[in-house]
Amino acid sequence: MALSGNELRGKFLAYFASKGHQVVASSPLAPKDDPSLLFTNAGMVQFKQVFLGQEQRPYTRAATSQKCFRASGKHNDLENVGRTPRHHTFFEMLGNFSFGDYFKQDAVTFAWELLTVGFGLDPEKLWVSVHHSDDEAAELWQSEVGVRPERIVRLGDKDNFWSMGDTGPCGPCSEIHIDMGPEMGCGRPDCAVGCDCNRYLELWNLVFMQYNRDASGQTTPLPKPSIDTGMGLERIAGVVQGVRSNYDSDLFTPIIERACQITQTAYGQSDQADISLRVIADHARACAFLVADGILPSNEGRGYVLRRILRRAARHGRKLGAQKPFLHQVAMKVIDEMMGAYPALGDARAFVDKVVTSEEERFNETLDTGLKLLAEAIEEAKAKGQTALPGEVAFKLYDTYGFPVDLTRTICEEEALGVDEPGFEAAMGQQKTRSRASWKGSGEEGLSGPLAELRAKGFKTAFTGYDGLEGQGQVV
Ligand code: ATP
Ligand code: MG
Ligand code: MG
Ligand code: MG
Repeated sequence: MALSGNELRGKFLAYFASKGHQVVASSPLAPKDDPSLLFTNAGMVQFKQVFLGQEQRPYTRAATSQKCFRASGKHNDLENVGRTPRHHTFFEMLGNFSFGDYFKQDAVTFAWELLTVGFGLDPEKLWVSVHHSDDEAAELWQSEVGVRPERIVRLGDKDNFWSMGDTGPCGPCSEIHIDMGPEMGCGRPDCAVGCDCNRYLELWNLVFMQYNRDASGQTTPLPKPSIDTGMGLERIAGVVQGVRSNYDSDLFTPIIERACQITQTAYGQSDQADISLRVIADHARACAFLVADGILPSNEGRGYVLRRILRRAARHGRKLGAQKPFLHQVAMKVIDEMMGAYPALGDARAFVDKVVTSEEERFNETLDTGLKLLAEAIEEAKAKGQTALPGEVAFKLYDTYGFPVDLTRTICEEEALGVDEPGFEAAMGQQKTRSRASWKGSGEEGLSGPLAELRAKGFKTAFTGYDGLEGQGQVV
């Protein structure tokens, strides 16, 4: 039997614990005290101040399994979900960190040993990339673990310089990829590591954290060079389990099965239905974890991103024939599957159920009318030979029917139609002026009533696979 996702998470942390790393709990999906970032999008986020030398910890080596969410900002994989085998909005990032302790040499050795010896990957299938300026890393891959020079690819900033956002710690990086076979590739003659197709699957990113970038774009050296790595748990699970897609790993199959049952749809029969099922499974995971971390649907900030993905999933359910709210049931399955590793998710079960159901109900009330209006407007635009849906229609759908504009965009795309974005923005601007609405930070201020009470009780989840402690920066 191949290792399960849960076992892989445990083995990863145990390996780094054996190399002197402190196992630290995942931090929440909403980063604390960090207005520069809406969501935690990498393992290093909770250690940002440590890398900058502004916070001390009683350890210089750490390992985590970090809850990450990438559906906004610099790292946004929303449109990839369901379409590529490797992207999710919510995923777990396994990482090891050195705060001014070891640097490139150990980082390279640890990663290679764990993948090839610990997880049994065939070294002959692995490739590495380094930043084009990084001779040192290229040399270490050869001298320390014996990677052949032709397997070491030099790439530019786009692939091999990592930053969390526009500001903060950053540095050149080196990535380990696995060749999934030519049949997974795009077939172009120049297809190689770094190609955006699915042949050379990026597994693990080792960031050589050396700089801090400030708001003016200036980089300055960090007090001590450090290491920050990240490997997607779902990707390594797919690879170790010998499947071609993360969605076929055991972290996803029970959730997809549940979505199939509820919508009475078979998986693997049609491309369109499969995309919908994967989107539903992905978004159900994201909704469960986001709500359990205290984020609630709203019209601003974090809450709006949650609302968007929830409504996207609802609409995919509708495409599969679901007439009634269903996503909460899929989210409950997510909780069943994941509460072993994240017990606080189990504690938040009733809360997640209530929040997701009520948002689905709200949206369902207007979904049909909105979809009808959109279908008519699309027909009209096509009849007139227009290439884009008028901005006012997109705005009306948003304002009156609760359609996030990306939903309207997706539906239009399916009909080979664009959306008049400037027109939408203009209509939105007018409404904003009218209501004098303003940006309210994370979008969670000003909550009142029962939701505020629930929030105040603090529903948080963290990886507590070892002894049940949780919270930001907490040792487990
Ligand atoms: P890709 O090029 O495949 O989009 P990335 O370069 O954006 O990945 P990094 O920012 O380097 O990813 O993140 C570190 C690791 O986290 C990746 O090597 C991958 O294993 C995992 N990862 C990144 N984005 C996702 C995602 N959307 N879903 C699942 N795993 C991801
Ligand atoms: Mg990416
Ligand atoms: Mg990449
Ligand atoms: Mg990368």
